[in-house]
Amino acid sequence: MQPSDPVQTLRGLGPKKAEALTNLNITTLDDLMHHFPRTYQDRREVKPIAQMGPDETGLIVARVIRSRTNYYRGRGKQSLRLDIADESGGMQILFFQARYLLKYFQEGEEYAFFGKVTQGRYGLQMVHPEFCPAADREEGIVPIYPLTQGITQRDMLNWQKAIRSLYGQIEDHLPEDLREKNGLLGLAQALEEIHFPQGGETFVKARSRLIFDEFFLLQTGIMTIRSKTGARKGAAFERTDAAEEYISALPFALTFAQRRCADEILADLAGERVMNRLVQGDVGSGKTAVAEIAIYAAVRSGYQAVMMAPTEILARQHYDGISRAFAPFGIRVGFLSGSCGAAEKRQILEDLASGDIQVLVGTHALIQPEVQFSRLGLVITDEQHRFGVDQRIRLQQKGEDPNILVMTATPIPRTLAVILYGDLDISVIDEMPPGRKPVKTYALDVSQREKCYEFVEKELAAGHQAYVVTPLIDTSDALEIRSAQETAEELKERFSGAGPHGAYRVGLLHGSMKTSEKDQVMEAFGRGDIDLLVATVVIEVGINVPTATVMVIENSERFGLAQMHQLRGRVGRGDRQSWCFLIRDGGGEIAEERAAIMASSSDGFAIAEEDLRLRGPGDLFGTRQHGLPALHMADLVRNRDVLAMAREEAKALTEADPALSLPEHRLLKEKLENMFGEELTLAL
Ligand code: ADP
Ligand code: MG
Repeated sequence: MQPSDPVQTLRGLGPKKAEALTNLNITTLDDLMHHFPRTYQDRREVKPIAQMGPDETGLIVARVIRSRTNYYRGRGKQSLRLDIADESGGMQILFFQARYLLKYFQEGEEYAFFGKVTQGRYGLQMVHPEFCPAADREEGIVPIYPLTQGITQRDMLNWQKAIRSLYGQIEDHLPEDLREKNGLLGLAQALEEIHFPQGGETFVKARSRLIFDEFFLLQTGIMTIRSKTGARKGAAFERTDAAEEYISALPFALTFAQRRCADEILADLAGERVMNRLVQGDVGSGKTAVAEIAIYAAVRSGYQAVMMAPTEILARQHYDGISRAFAPFGIRVGFLSGSCGAAEKRQILEDLASGDIQVLVGTHALIQPEVQFSRLGLVITDEQHRFGVDQRIRLQQKGEDPNILVMTATPIPRTLAVILYGDLDISVIDEMPPGRKPVKTYALDVSQREKCYEFVEKELAAGHQAYVVTPLIDTSDALEIRSAQETAEELKERFSGAGPHGAYRVGLLHGSMKTSEKDQVMEAFGRGDIDLLVATVVIEVGINVPTATVMVIENSERFGLAQMHQLRGRVGRGDRQSWCFLIRDGGGEIAEERAAIMASSSDGFAIAEEDLRLRGPGDLFGTRQHGLPALHMADLVRNRDVLAMAREEAKALTEADPALSLPEHRLLKEKLENMFGEELTLAL
C-alpha cells in the first residue's frame, strides 16, 4: 500500500463509497490523509446521566430499557423514542424519520451516545445523538470529519486507522531548513496528531504546520506561475494617445474612477513592461467601456485584441456591445463560440489569421489550437474567477507576450486580492456612473413572503420583470434543482391570475439544463416573453436585462453576503427604480446581520469587507472559485500571521529557485504540479 494508491485499495471500500468520496475530492490514499477533521469531540470521560444538565454536551453509556415508535404528521414518518438508563439515572433519546433505525437498538443492550442534552416534554433528552454499541465506542479525543452522502464518521475513522501506518511513508515536501527555521513539525508527525490527537502543545503545532503548508503551497504555486507571466518585456504600443478619440466619442463622460483606471491601463500599454492588470469593479460600474478603450489603443497601434467571457450569453452580450461601439471606427469584430457553425468558424479563423478581424470576442472556444492570430497584443478575460489559470495562460500563448487585462466584478478586499492575484497590478473602479438608483433592499421574514409576492405582482402588472432565486444547497445539485422546480410550480399557481397577457409567464433556469436550453430561457426573459424567472444561482454571472426590476432571494439565510450582492446586481441596470427582497427562514444572528448589511449598503467593497469580518473567507473568497486549490484548514482571516510568514518564505524560495529545480525542492515541485495541474507545468 502506498499513498498514491486509489482509495479502493482499502478493504471494505467498494466502488460506491469510492464514487461518494470523489464529492470530497478524494481519490487516493494521500487525499484521504489530507482530509482533515472539521472538529473534535472530547470523549475521554463518560458522564453519569444524573450529572448531565440541559445544554450540556457529552458522552453517556447506557442501557436501552424500552424502545417505542410513533407515527407523526401522518404519511408514514416514524419517530423512535428510547428510554435509557445507567446506574445514576435515566433519560430519553429521540430520533425523527427513524425508519432506518427501527431494528438497530435492542432492549437490554448497552450503547454509547454522544450529543447535547435538552429539556424535552418528558424530561431530559438527547435528539439525534451519535451512537454505537458500547463495546465499539471510540475513546479519547475523536475527530469529526466533513462527510458526504454515503460516507459515515465510522468509515472515516476506520480508514484513517487503516492508513495510519502510511503517514510515516510520506516524504516531507517542505525543505528541512525552512521547517527548522520556522519551528514547523514534520509532515508525518503533523498528520498523526491531526487524525489521532493526543491534545496539548503537539496538537497546536500540528495544526499550525498544516495551516502553514496550505498557505505556503498556494503562495509558492501562484508566485511560480506569476514569475513566468509577470515582469516580461513586450512591445510598447505606439498609439495609446489615439484612445482619446474613442473616449471623446463615447455617449457618456467617464467617471473619475473609469478615467483613472483607463490612464493606468494606457500607461501600462505605452510602456515596455508587459501589462498584467486586474480591474475590479462592481457590477454596472462600467468595466466594459474601460476594456474598449484598451482595445481601441491596441487596434490603433496595429495589434489584435481578444476578449474571453465565461458563458455564451455573456460573450454574446460583449460581442453585441463591442461590435456596435467599434462599427463607426471601421474596426472589425468577430465572434467565436462552440455554437458557431463549421463554415462560419472557418471564415472567422481565416480572417483572424490574416488580420482582417481586429477584435475577437468569445467563450473558452477561443483557446482551441486552431485559433491563430496575426498579431495579438491584448488579452482580456471577463469575470476571471470562472476561468482556470491554465485557460488564461493558453490564451496568452497565442501572442508574443501580449498584454493582459483581467476584469472581475467580484469585489475583493485589497489584502486578499494581493494574495489571490500575486503580482497582478490592481485597478479599482469604485464609483458608479451618475444617475443610478440604488436597488431598494428589504430584509424579510418568511411570514412576510406573501406580502412580497403581492409587491412582485404589482411590478409585473406594470410590465416589469422579476427574478426569484432559490436556495443554494451545497450538498446536492438534485436538491437545488428540485427546490427551484417546486418554487416555479408554486409561483405558476400563485400568478395564474390575470396578467396583461392572461396568466403571468413563469420560467425556470437551473444549472443542469443544456446550454442551449438556458440560452433560450434567458433570451425569452430578455425579450419580455417571461415575466418571472425562477432560477438557481446560475444567473449570478453578468446577465443584463434592464427591464427586470425585482430580485427575490428565497431562503436568503443560505447565501453569503457577496453572493447576494452579485445577485442583486442583476437588477437596477436600467433607469427604473429596482427592488431586492431577502426572504429569510431562520439562520440565526449571522443570517440576520447579513440581511441587515445588504439592506443598508450597496457598496460591493464594503460588503466584501463585512463578509470577511462575519464569516471569514466564505464561498466567494473560497480559493476554488478563483481556479486555485482549496484551503481546508487555513483561514485567510484568522490565520493572517501564519499567512504572512508563509508568504515571506514562498517569496524567498521562488526568488532563489524560480523553476524549483534544486534537488531539495523536487518534492515541493511534484506536490505543486499535483495541486495546480497543467497551469504550473506551463509556467515552469
Ligand atoms: P460592468 O462593470 O458591470 O461590466 P458595464 O460596462 O456593462 O458594467 O456598464 C453598465 C452600463 O453602464 C452600460 O450600459 C454602460 O453603457 C453604462 N456606462 C458605463 N460607463 C458609464 C458612464 N461613465 N456614464 C454613464 N453610463 C455608463
Ligand atoms: Mg460586465
